[in-house]
Amino acid sequence: KKPQQQKKKIEGAALIGIDVAKEDDLGEWYQQVITKGQMISYYDVAGCYILEPPSYAIWENIKSWFDAKIKTLKVRNAYFPIFISADNLEREKEHVEGFAAEVAWVTKGGKSDLEKPVAVRPTSETAMYPYFARKIQSHRDLPLKLNQWNNVVRWEFKHPMPFIRSREFLWQEGHTAHLTKEAASEEALQILEWYAGVYQDLLAVPVIQGTKTENEKFPGADYTTTIEGFIPATGRGIQAATSHCLGQHFSKMFNITVEDPNSKEAGKSEHIHVWQNSWGLTTRSIGVMILTHGDRRGLVIPPRVAEIQVVVIPVGVTAKMTPEAKEDLYKKVQSISDDLKSVGVRVETDYREGYSPGWKFNDWELKGIPLRIEFGPKDAEKGQVTTSRRDIDNKDEARGETKVDDLKEAIPKLLEQIQSDMFSRAKKAYDEHRVQLTNWDDFVPTLNGKNVVLVPHCEGDKCEDEVKAKSARTALGDGVAEDKQAPAMGAKSLCIPFEQPDGGVKEGTKCINPTCNTPAKSWILFGRSY
Ligand code: AMP
Repeated sequence: KKPQQQKKKIEGAALIGIDVAKEDDLGEWYQQVITKGQMISYYDVAGCYILEPPSYAIWENIKSWFDAKIKTLKVRNAYFPIFISADNLEREKEHVEGFAAEVAWVTKGGKSDLEKPVAVRPTSETAMYPYFARKIQSHRDLPLKLNQWNNVVRWEFKHPMPFIRSREFLWQEGHTAHLTKEAASEEALQILEWYAGVYQDLLAVPVIQGTKTENEKFPGADYTTTIEGFIPATGRGIQAATSHCLGQHFSKMFNITVEDPNSKEAGKSEHIHVWQNSWGLTTRSIGVMILTHGDRRGLVIPPRVAEIQVVVIPVGVTAKMTPEAKEDLYKKVQSISDDLKSVGVRVETDYREGYSPGWKFNDWELKGIPLRIEFGPKDAEKGQVTTSRRDIDNKDEARGETKVDDLKEAIPKLLEQIQSDMFSRAKKAYDEHRVQLTNWDDFVPTLNGKNVVLVPHCEGDKCEDEVKAKSARTALGDGVAEDKQAPAMGAKSLCIPFEQPDGGVKEGTKCINPTCNTPAKSWILFGRSY
């Protein structure tokens, strides 16, 4: 332990497992929460992590929900190789420039140098589109909609952070080709809507939907739509998932064309380049969930994605108890568990010998299990169970009682209540920390107050760079430099929200950057970010 961290030890640390407060040192808190909560185990390649079964189960839940959604659009899953030839990777100029710094290359096979090094995919546009060109011969082959659930590698130079920014991560990447621009745009928005669904409805994490500015769009895209999340503990934004309209940039480079059915009707034969989309959601989502809901006792997992939703723990087992009485109690615990399983609740029982109920409570709390059911001789007498919600910090408020006969109805309802309360609390925090401003003087102080800001902006890329430079700590005057908590980074544009205050900026509104002096085009969400 570093001495500085020992100072921050909080009361009862030995008992509760997490010994640093989230508010005091988020980095250390996060590390403890993900390792003690068995989400992540460390690995000896920097920026790579082991996803343990409880976090992988969350990923599987996300996967099955989203996979079912995209299948309603007739998107089909496929698998493309992890390696990309240099020739293909480098075919779209903007794309290759955008990713060049992060591509990992295989240069050797055993001891011998490869004649032509191959790239490890950072994303698969360039792996898939030569295939698209072969498959799409006629407009009747459109739309072509493929998706893969896979891993990608981006040799990030920024500081890695488990889930949030890793060098290898899991995701799905959808790649589709359409006859018309309209069909492509419509799909991109539908996907974005489902990404918002993954975050809001499954992970109980609020997001803002919008478009990226030119500066921040995906390399090679026409435009990028995005959902942007928020980490209250640091006041920083985070790109939660993106759905790109690639336009015809790639179809031109990879020669993906069809004969225009309209021109054919008119007796001519004109070829058009197809309209393409790509869209991706990664295991970063799990990190955002952890950072949003976790507390001083560890993980708090929303019921809809939790591997285990309810743990049933026998209590009040004393040394004086007869073996028959104990057996009877355990039988009843088992029947509670069976009842819950029969209505689809993911339930676990904890009969471990040699551990006190208190120890077990802490253990399951650390793992973020949404609901605990305690059952002892006193509960048995009253024909009830005691429940304890993980999402409520106050022990008394977290507790409740439910009749054993009502469990099959009451517990699924309670789990849904936990789910929606978790979302409401997180949404309140985001709403309170998204501040609308028009005056530059308020910009940096508001960021320093752990907020993201919604400001009128000209949408100019140079201006955006200026805003970023001016809001970085090194650029600030003495007053702000004293604020040690303020991160060194400047604010970047997170998105142009679809939902604009008052329907958009009023005529005559100036860009917030005082040296820009041009009219604002839209309200843009700016923030320090991950
Ligand atoms: P992109 O293909 O660049 O649009 O990336 C798709 C999504 O991946 C982004 O919206 C991020 O949420 C996420 N992402 C980007 N880089 C990483 C990373 N290093 N680790 C985990 N997730 C990432």
